[in-house]
Amino acid sequence: MSSILEQTVETYGIDNWGAGYFGANRKGNLVVISPDNETIQADVKEIIDDLQKRGVSTPVLLRFPQLLFGQIRRLQTAFKKSIKEFEYEGGHLCVYPMKVNQNRAVIEEYLREGSRFNFGLEAGSKAELYAALGLEQSKDSLLVLNGFKDRDFIRLAFSGASAGKNVVIVVEKMSELTHTLDLITEVTKENPDANLPMIGVRVKLYSKGSGKWEKSGGEAAKFGLTTTEILEVIRQLNEAGRIDMLKLLHFHIGSQLTDIKRIKNAMKEAARTYAKIRQMGVPVEYLDVGGGMAVDYDGSRTSFESSANYNAREFANDVIYVIKTVCDDENVPHPTIIQESGRYLSAYHAILVTNIQDEIETVVEDITPMTIDPDDPQVVKELADLRETINAKNYREYYHDALEHREELFTMFNLGLITLVDKGKGEVLFWDVCEKADGYAQMKKYVSEEFDDLRKLLCAKYLANFSVFRSMPDNWALEQLFPIIPIHKLNKKPTEYATLCDITCDSDGIVDKFVDLHDVKPVLELHKLTKNEPYYIAMMLVGAYQEVMGNNHNLFGVPHEAHIYIGEDGPIIKKVIYGATLADSISQVRFDAEQLHDTFRRAILARIKDGKLSTKEGNDLIEYYQDQAESYTYLAHNPSK
Ligand SMILES: *Cc1c(COP(=O)(O)O)cnc(C)c1O
Repeated sequence: MSSILEQTVETYGIDNWGAGYFGANRKGNLVVISPDNETIQADVKEIIDDLQKRGVSTPVLLRFPQLLFGQIRRLQTAFKKSIKEFEYEGGHLCVYPMKVNQNRAVIEEYLREGSRFNFGLEAGSKAELYAALGLEQSKDSLLVLNGFKDRDFIRLAFSGASAGKNVVIVVEKMSELTHTLDLITEVTKENPDANLPMIGVRVKLYSKGSGKWEKSGGEAAKFGLTTTEILEVIRQLNEAGRIDMLKLLHFHIGSQLTDIKRIKNAMKEAARTYAKIRQMGVPVEYLDVGGGMAVDYDGSRTSFESSANYNAREFANDVIYVIKTVCDDENVPHPTIIQESGRYLSAYHAILVTNIQDEIETVVEDITPMTIDPDDPQVVKELADLRETINAKNYREYYHDALEHREELFTMFNLGLITLVDKGKGEVLFWDVCEKADGYAQMKKYVSEEFDDLRKLLCAKYLANFSVFRSMPDNWALEQLFPIIPIHKLNKKPTEYATLCDITCDSDGIVDKFVDLHDVKPVLELHKLTKNEPYYIAMMLVGAYQEVMGNNHNLFGVPHEAHIYIGEDGPIIKKVIYGATLADSISQVRFDAEQLHDTFRRAILARIKDGKLSTKEGNDLIEYYQDQAESYTYLAHNPSK
């Protein structure tokens, strides 16, 4: 018989999706495990308590740079091993796609560790390029530029090359080549020995990926040059005497690629394209296989959207093996493989911890004890009778009767035949019957669909102090799943089934799909809330895309952020970055706090002048209002239960 702790770890699937980075300790708290030594762990509850003491309240995003390092090393090691195993003669380099998470902390930590392996950056916009040019990269790393480019973008790329960086302009459209050729002429006229950028081309592959981003590949894809366009690029570069600048072939068939078979097919097509171009005398050295390595969010190891049916080692083996085989067949040198994996590197390192603020009741509870009187309406008395006599044999029939009676109750109310008190009694009785029916239904081996739906209706709704739109936008926009888990009480059995509501006033601001090994869970097992005791949950693996895609719905701003080092003597809070204040949030929509304060002050002064407020009262109000500018946009945590 396994312990309760082991059972809850299994309930939440930590060992399935945790990639070895997460676990639970004897105290029943969630821990983050050092990638270097599994006995070194950080207790997440301890971190939250510590932050609380420093006045940093939930929601708070915890960043663990060591997990970013762990993923960098996993990826690098996987490729190193495959290269050795298959005697591959080219190298392997990564460029981090900045769009996945451009936060300074993430990029700087990535470069710190990645530079040891000559890992560089990938920028997809002028702003990302501008940031990248001001960062220090290792001498032999690449700076790859994707996305649509105008002349200014390309000029900025040239200045990066002049500054000594290994810039690659990946041509996505023919006009980009024209600008590039013009700038080559311009720059070399002034300085014939100028360091020029390299040129790449993005290939439109026939092969498609799988999963939610399948559209990124295939003939109808938004990006990439067709075969004839690539031939035209080669022709123009030959004509300009610049064919030696064409160094890279690029493709990217989508993010979160769930199925390894599709990846292999794309590799075959890309490797063949590389070989044929190489045979035309073009000195291409790099084959950029894009990003797309998936994160197994639900831990099921399947080709399901939130999962992946391969790991880093299998991915590396297939990439290396396929490219080697094609190149050997075509008698061309093995290219250096460039990888643009972002999600895989950054997803694990960040978790969002927040408190459950309260519970929202769906079930109408009897607030003041109720008595059934002889002169109550017939419908109320019948519901009361159902409640008294429902049992394991008749529950299905009685549940159907209760549904009918409820209809009747509303009809009678709308016709003005019963009072508000009668309606209230009827509602309480109805939900009592439902709860009893649910109890009997769940005892059966097979629960029929209608009772599954009832369970969803009856489940608790926990009000979580965060905004789905700000902190987990892909859950809202794409129904992407993220593991969610309490950070404490893991040594106690979770006895409630709940969905989560966020604090935005948007009915889409809910989480009602949860990771499961075999399915998607409509409800999550959580603990009963206790009076005056905080209950914290963590949204896991939110380090990729969520922070930067999050929006300002209802003006909830960025949450507080803490950078944690997992040390031998416990977790160390390295840095705290405070989240958005009310003033920050309103400035996002171009309001000015000073101006608001002025208007408010004038209103108060007028009230004082009219004798409606004393001067002291007025001044206190002004001060109180102005102080709000500095407060947090989320709910203060003062449990009322
Ligand atoms: C988004 C993107 C990536 C990153 O994809 P991941 O799935 O996060 O690895 C890489 N390359 C290009 C061109 C992209 O647009």
